[in-house]
Amino acid sequence: MAWLFEGAFHQHMLYDLICPKRFELKQRYGRPQEYRTVGQVNGLVLHKCIETIHQDGFGVSCSEPYFRGLYESAIALEQANTDEPPIRWRDKDPSEEQLAEDAGKILFNYAQKPFNRECEVLLSEAEWKCDIGEYPWEGRIDQVRKHNGQVILIDFKSGNNKPEPYSLRMGLQFSIYFYALRYGFFNGEPVDLMADKVVHYQLHDHLPYKRKTNGVPAGTERGPAWYETERTEAEMPLIVDEVKRNCSDVRRGVFSRRPYPQICRGCQVKEACLYDWEHGGLDDKVIRKLRQALEEEDLAA
Ligand code: SF4
Repeated sequence: MAWLFEGAFHQHMLYDLICPKRFELKQRYGRPQEYRTVGQVNGLVLHKCIETIHQDGFGVSCSEPYFRGLYESAIALEQANTDEPPIRWRDKDPSEEQLAEDAGKILFNYAQKPFNRECEVLLSEAEWKCDIGEYPWEGRIDQVRKHNGQVILIDFKSGNNKPEPYSLRMGLQFSIYFYALRYGFFNGEPVDLMADKVVHYQLHDHLPYKRKTNGVPAGTERGPAWYETERTEAEMPLIVDEVKRNCSDVRRGVFSRRPYPQICRGCQVKEACLYDWEHGGLDDKVIRKLRQALEEEDLAA
């Protein structure tokens, strides 16, 4: 019997949905991650610290050591958390001390910005569920805030890849968040909010340069951190169409290929995809290699 994808779509599947064949191979043969990477945990802990900063009113002694201590306590809790897979620290990863030092600076600069201090947080790290067309979706929104009368939807990024303007404006991740905020359920409740702005918040921009870089003096922050875009009510039908198109093939078990150079170049399942194309299926050896490649990819993330 043909393999079918059942259950809800999750926001982290968006990248793979671009090519239904990639979606099939990864969903079908990938296994739950046995480890969490340092990057994943660092992002999670920074998010938790930001939540605490807003809850606690930005700290009594708003200093770098205070925020570094906040991060150290949060990462210690995460390391002791036995409900989640253990953290895998590789030789090339930054040390715990380096992460804490950087986090102290990032969070300190975050806490200095008036646009962060003066806002009202409406939702933080909120789980959502929402049907888009006939397809159930779920995920988590980092933050929704109100500032100067506007509702602002924020996605915090802990990596250092600056957003690309076209994907910022049209990317499905923000579109889905925008739609869910209006029509979805957050922690089981409808919120019915229309975001006036959608923001890619680049936390790494708050980390000052250690030395003069491209004519910019040492000690200067790396960027504005705040990259805003929008979605509009008029775009809602477009968002639904885009999402439905991405979901309908995989729901029907039609795993077509989208072999464009920019999609295939970095595709983790390309060898299995080619074998499947040439032989009309996968044998045990190819499946074993594919499973191994997917595990290695998880660990390298
Ligand atoms: S190699 Fe290209 S066509 Fe094949 S699964 Fe990957 S992205 Fe899709």
